[in-house]
Amino acid sequence: MTDPAHPSSPPADAAAPASAGEVASPAPAGDVADRAAAGFRQRYGAPAAGRWAAPGRVNLIGEHTDYNDGFVLPFALPLRTVVAAAPDDGDRWTVWSELTGDQVGFGADEVAAPGRVPGWAAYVAGVVWALREAGHRVPGARLAVASDVPLGSGLSSSAALEAAVLAALVDLGGLDLPAEGRPRLAQRAENAYVGAPTGIMDQSAAIRCRAGHALFLDCRTEAVEHIPFDLAAAGLAVLVIDSRAPHRHADGEYASRRAACEKAAGLLGVPALRDVAAADLDDALARLDDDETRRRVRHVVTEDQRVLDAVALLRAGRVRDIGPLLTASHASMRDDFEITVPEVDTAVEAALAAGAYGARMTGGGFGGCVLALVDADRADAVADAVTTRYAERGFRAPGFHLATPAPGAHRL
Ligand code: ADP
Ligand code: MG
Repeated sequence: MTDPAHPSSPPADAAAPASAGEVASPAPAGDVADRAAAGFRQRYGAPAAGRWAAPGRVNLIGEHTDYNDGFVLPFALPLRTVVAAAPDDGDRWTVWSELTGDQVGFGADEVAAPGRVPGWAAYVAGVVWALREAGHRVPGARLAVASDVPLGSGLSSSAALEAAVLAALVDLGGLDLPAEGRPRLAQRAENAYVGAPTGIMDQSAAIRCRAGHALFLDCRTEAVEHIPFDLAAAGLAVLVIDSRAPHRHADGEYASRRAACEKAAGLLGVPALRDVAAADLDDALARLDDDETRRRVRHVVTEDQRVLDAVALLRAGRVRDIGPLLTASHASMRDDFEITVPEVDTAVEAALAAGAYGARMTGGGFGGCVLALVDADRADAVADAVTTRYAERGFRAPGFHLATPAPGAHRL
C-alpha cells in the first residue's frame, strides 16, 4: 500500500502547498466535492447518494491545554475532506481514497474489535466500530474520499476524515446522534480503534465549528461557544505556514509533557492544571522544587489564561489585539514547554519582522504549522519574508495557506 502520509501520485488539482513565497488560496469551492463524486462513480459504477464535507482546523491559541482539562480556541479551515457515499447491502463497508489510491473493504468481523483494519482505512472502520459500540445500527456503505487537507501537517486531516465519514453514516442510516455527541464518538474511533491518543479538540473543531467564528472549547466540560472571528471585516488574514520540519520524536515528547503535567497536578493536589488559577501561579510554582516542572506548569497555566484573554478580546471585536497573545503563546511553548524547533521559531520571527501582529506555532509541536495574524494585503509579503529567511537558513521551503474560519461537518 502507498504510504498514506506520502501518496505517490497526489491529484494535480489538489490544494498543493504553494511554491516559495506564493500564498495558496484554498481550492475553489466544489473542486474537492467534484473529485469525491467522480471518484465514487468511477470506483462503483453509479452515482453517490450524497456528499458530506468536514474541514481541517488550526488552533488559534491554547496549546497542550486540552489534556490538562483547559481551554482551546480552534477554527475550521476552508481546506476540507469530502466523502461521497451510498448505502450498500448488509454489514459491508468499502472505502476508496484519492490520496492513497487504494480501496479497502471490511465487514462485521473487522469492526467487532479495534485494530482489525490497519492503515488509513482504520479511521473509517473506527467510526463504524464506535457507532456500533454506542448501539447504533450502522448501514453498510460505499465511500469515496477526496481531500484538500494535507496529511500529517498538524491541520487534522484525521479528524476531518472521521467527521465526514460519521456525518455520511449518520445521514444514510437515519441515526439519532446529535452534533453534541459526535466529537466524543469520533475521538473514540481515533483513540481506541486507530490507537492514536488525541484529545477532544480536533474532532470538536471538525464537527462543531461555524463559519466566521472560532470555537471556544472547555475541554473539561466539553461546553462550546462560538466566538465571532471575522477576519475579513477587520481587513486581516491568518496565514498558515507549513513549517515542513520533520516531526522529531513527537510521540515520545508528547507523552513526556503529558506525564509531567499529570505529575505536577498531583504534587499541587489538584485534579488537573486547569485548576491552578493564573492569580495563584506564583504560589503554585513556589511549591514545586524542580525548575523544569515549574516551567511546564507555567506554560499551561498562562496558556489557559491567554485563551480566556483572546476570547474576551474577540467578543469585544478587537481581533488585531490578540496578536501579542499569539506571540506570547509562542514564547511560552519555546522557552517553558520546549516543544518548538528551529524551523517554527524561524517562521515566527520572520513573520513578526515582516509586520505580523502576532505569530505562533500551532499544534502539538516539534514541527507542524505556524499561524500569523497579518493585514490581508500583507499576506504575500509576509509569506515572502518567511520563505527568504528559510532559504538563508538552508531549510526546506515552507508551504502557505490562507485561513478564513469555515463551517464544520455538513452535507453538501
Ligand atoms: P493530521 O491529523 O495532523 O493530518 P494524523 O497523523 O493525525 O495527522 O492523521 C493523518 C492520517 O490520517 C494519514 O496518515 C491517513 O492515515 C489518515 N487520513 C487522513 N485523511 C485521509 C484521506 N483523505 N485519505 C486517506 N487517509 C487519510
Ligand atoms: Mg490527526
